[in-house]
Amino acid sequence: MKEFADIAIAIPVDRLFTYRVPETSRKKAEVGKRVFVPFRNKDVVGYIIGFKDKSDAKGIKNIKKIIDEQPIISNHLLGLTKWISETYLCSWGQAIAATVPSVLKKGKVSVKQRVGTGLVPTLYPPDERPVPTKPLSLTVEQREVLKSVLFKIDREDYKTFLLHGITASGKTEVYLQAIERVLNKGRTSIVLVPEIALTPQTVERFTSRFGEKVAVVHSALIGSMRYREWKRITDGEAKIVVGARSAIFSPVKNLGLIIVDEEHETSYKQEDVPRYHARDVALMRARLSNCPVILGSATPSLESYYLAEKKKFELVKITKRIDDRDLPKVKIVDMRMELATRKKLVMFSKILIDSIQKALDKGQQVMIFLNRRGFSTYVNCKKCGLVLKCKRCDSVLVYHYETKSLMCHYCNFRMSPPDICPQCRSSYMKYFGIGTEKVESEVARLFPEARIARMDTDATSKRGSHARILGEFKKHNLDILVGTQMIAKGLDFPRVTLVGVVNSDVTLNLPDFRASERTFNLLTQVAGRAGRGEEGGEVIIQTYAPGHYAILSASKHDYEKFYREEIKTRKELSFPPFKYIIKLTMRSRNEKRTLDAAHKLRDFLIKKLKDIEIVGPAPSPISKVRGFFRWNVLLKGKNRSTMCEALKKTLAHYRRPPGVILAIDVDPISM
Ligand code: ADP
Ligand code: ZN
Ligand code: ZN
Repeated sequence: MKEFADIAIAIPVDRLFTYRVPETSRKKAEVGKRVFVPFRNKDVVGYIIGFKDKSDAKGIKNIKKIIDEQPIISNHLLGLTKWISETYLCSWGQAIAATVPSVLKKGKVSVKQRVGTGLVPTLYPPDERPVPTKPLSLTVEQREVLKSVLFKIDREDYKTFLLHGITASGKTEVYLQAIERVLNKGRTSIVLVPEIALTPQTVERFTSRFGEKVAVVHSALIGSMRYREWKRITDGEAKIVVGARSAIFSPVKNLGLIIVDEEHETSYKQEDVPRYHARDVALMRARLSNCPVILGSATPSLESYYLAEKKKFELVKITKRIDDRDLPKVKIVDMRMELATRKKLVMFSKILIDSIQKALDKGQQVMIFLNRRGFSTYVNCKKCGLVLKCKRCDSVLVYHYETKSLMCHYCNFRMSPPDICPQCRSSYMKYFGIGTEKVESEVARLFPEARIARMDTDATSKRGSHARILGEFKKHNLDILVGTQMIAKGLDFPRVTLVGVVNSDVTLNLPDFRASERTFNLLTQVAGRAGRGEEGGEVIIQTYAPGHYAILSASKHDYEKFYREEIKTRKELSFPPFKYIIKLTMRSRNEKRTLDAAHKLRDFLIKKLKDIEIVGPAPSPISKVRGFFRWNVLLKGKNRSTMCEALKKTLAHYRRPPGVILAIDVDPISM
C-alpha cells in the first residue's frame, strides 16, 4: 500500500529519498504532488514519484505535509524529466523542478493573481492592436509542407520535420495553419521561439490569430503572471503555448504538435542545471505524445541537417520568398583593401557610406549591425602594453561611453577609466576596437540629419524600451537602427532596404567549433532583414576575411554550400554531429588547485572509460569568471547514452577534491 513514498528532491544527489506516509495522509498522497519533507534539518519541497510497502532504510522520517490537492506533474512529464536526468546527468528532482513555475517550487499552494496586466509583449499601444488575422491562401510550396505535416497530425504519429525555408518564405503561416488543424481536433500545441523579448513580432502572429487560446510563457513576466499562464494551461483553457525554451515543459494535455522555430538558435540550450537542449527535449516529448514536431529554420543546425540527410528527419523545403520577392543582393567589402587605399583603419567603407546616404535620400530605412556592444572594446597602455582586464574574470574590460565606465561583460564589474596606467604610471592609455555605441556615434557624425537609435542589451535594459524602439522604427520615426544580434532576428520592417554589417569577423574569431556556423547564421539572419518590402534590398558585409566560406556562402544565400564545407571540417575534427561531446568543468578560486583537480580527473577517467576520447584538460576560453578559475576536460564519443551511462558509473567512485566544483555539460553549446 502507501506505507512509504519515493520522493525526488531538487538537489544534485542522483537518487530518490524514502519517507513514511503518515496514516492520515494516505488518501491524499498521490504521484505528482508536492510534499514538505524534513531534509538535513530543514523542511524542503519534494515530489512524490511512487509508493512501496516495505523499506530497509534506517531512520525513515515522516512526510510533513502534502501540499497539493491535485497532482501538478503528470505521469507524462515525470517520464520526460526522468529522461532529462539520464541524458543531461542531473538528479530527477532537479529536472522536475525545471518544469514547475518558480512560485510553486517554494511550496506555495496557489498564488494571488493580479488582473489587468497585459499578457503579451506587444509592439503596439492598446488602441492600435492589429486586427485578428485569417488564414492566408497558401503558395504551392507552403501547401506541400502543410500537407506532409497534417498527414502526421491526423494519424497522431511521431515524426520530425525539418522545415528549411529561407527568410520571409512564409514558414510562420504554415505553423499557424498546422496549429489550427490541431485545435480543431481538440488537441494542443507548443511553439518554442528563441527569446520572447527578442521576437515580439513572431509572438504577435500567434496571439492575433488565436487570441485567448494562446498562453505566452515569458521570462519577463512577473511571478504571479507566470503562474496565471501556467494555471490557464493546466486547466485546459489555453490550447496553444508560445514561449522560450522552458515552455517545452508546459503542462498541456493531448499534445498534438510541437514547433521549434529558429531551431538552430543556441539559446535553446539551458546553461544551468538541468543543462537541457529544448530542441532535443521537444523530440523526446513528441515521441512520448505520438505527435509530429516541426523544426523550422532558414539556417538549420548542422546536427539537424545531418539527421535529415540520414533520413532520421523528413526534410521539407520552401525555397521562394512570398510573392517571389528576390533575396537581397549582398556585397562583400574587403576591409584590407580599404585600409590599403585610405592608409588608415576606418569603421565604414566608402561604399557603405554612399549606400546609406542613397537610402536616406529615398526616405528608406537602414539597419547597421555589429555583434559587440560598448564603445571601445579594450584599453591598452602604449608604453608597457598592459590591457585592462577584470580582476575577477579573465576578460578584457570594455569602455562604455554612456556610463563613462569600463565594464566586464561577464560579471558586470564597473570602474571609471584610469588616466594613468596602473602598471607603469604613464599617461598613454589608448582606446581600441569598436562596439555598437561607437558605431552609433559615428553614424550620427556622418549623417547628422538622420534619426538614429541603438538596440543592444545596454540600450534596452529598461522594461519596455525594446518594444518602444521597435515601435518607433516601425512607425518610421527613426531612419537608422544600430544594433547587436538583437536586431538580427525575426523582425519584419518592409521599409528597410539596406543592411550594413560593420565587421562580420567578430563571431568568426570566437574560440568555438561553432564559430563558422554562428557567423553564417547571423549573416543570413541579418541579411534577411533587408528587402522585405516592394523596394527590394541590399546588404553590405564588411570583413577582413572575404574568402571565408561562411561569409561567401552567406553572401550567396547558399546554405547547401556552407553545409558541405562545414560538415567536412566537423568530420575531420570529430565534432558534432559526428561525435557527441560532454564537457566537464572544474572550477575553484585557486588556480593551481583547479588545474591539479582537472589533471587528476582526466587521469582517473582515462583509466576507467573505454572507447571514449578524452581531451584536455585545457583552460576554458574565458579562464576565470567571477573569481573562479575554470578548466575543461572534454569527452568525445559516438553514442551519447552509452557515454553518459559510463560516465555516471565512473563518477560514482570519484572523490572530488575539497573546494573544487565539477560541472557536467552534455552537448555543450560553448567551450
Ligand atoms: P518566415 O516565417 O519564413 O520568415 P513569414 O511567415 O513571416 O515568413 O512570411 C513573410 C511575410 O509573408 C509575412 O508578412 C506573411 O504575412 C506573408 N505571407 C506568408 N504566407 C503568405 C501567403 N500564402 N500569401 C500572402 N502572404 C503571405
Ligand atoms: Zn603602462
Ligand atoms: Zn568580471
